[in-house]
Amino acid sequence: MPDAPKDFSRLCVHTITTRPWSIEEAVGRYSKAGIRGITVWRQALEGRDASAAGRMIRDSGLSVVSLCRGGFFPSPTAKGRDEAVGENKRCIDQAAALGAPLIVLVCGAVPGQALEESRKQIRDGIAAVLDHASAAGVRLAIEPLHPMYADSRSAVNTMRQAREMRSLLGSPWLGVAVDLYHVWWDEDLEQEIAACGRDGSLFAFHICDWKTPTTDLLNDRGLMGEGCIPVRKIRGWVEAAGFNGFNEVEIFSTSRWATDQGAYLSEIQKAYLNHS
Ligand code: ZN
Repeated sequence: MPDAPKDFSRLCVHTITTRPWSIEEAVGRYSKAGIRGITVWRQALEGRDASAAGRMIRDSGLSVVSLCRGGFFPSPTAKGRDEAVGENKRCIDQAAALGAPLIVLVCGAVPGQALEESRKQIRDGIAAVLDHASAAGVRLAIEPLHPMYADSRSAVNTMRQAREMRSLLGSPWLGVAVDLYHVWWDEDLEQEIAACGRDGSLFAFHICDWKTPTTDLLNDRGLMGEGCIPVRKIRGWVEAAGFNGFNEVEIFSTSRWATDQGAYLSEIQKAYLNHS
């Protein structure tokens, strides 16, 4: 088990975690609180110039850790799949303008379409954008999603599926994002994290907690320490695998968004030190 984090030098917060704040307010508040990393959700950039937003972030002393999110490759029609490739290329261009070195991929699924077919379409979709990503200097990370989302959000549901897809595509620009909410239950998690470490494909680490009961399948994530995920233990596995990047707090929570975000940010920092 690793020691508790000593400071906030490796703490990154996703803009969606404090969704009521504009990106300008989030950057100001994170920076003032001593947080050093930010992952930007694309909706936070709406109506803004990505290069200017990137400059504003760097001027505040924060690092852009990644852009969320690309993906959603599968579609029942060739036109839909082409549009997804186009949208992912635009996302890559936006990441490059922002100065984000990484895009997290929520790979997609189509209700009623066989998962194997969706996985094939995901492989084809990623293959179609990899050259664009490497030319832009932006890495892509496949984020396996909890199987409860296999119907409509992602046909990639385990670390092994993500890692095997990555090996098949064989690009140093493609890796895996470990999001505890999605993979904490996986009996192979420790070995799979280690295998990603050996491949050099462990690109991102997202933390939060799993609440009991969970009242909403999407927007009821918990703060570290509020649920049953052994966050610190798994961080130990991730670090043993050679990962030394940011610990990214990514929490969708309708109940938290309804509260004072300044007080919430302090709670996040306390939970980070005590339970991560
Ligand atoms: Zn995530």
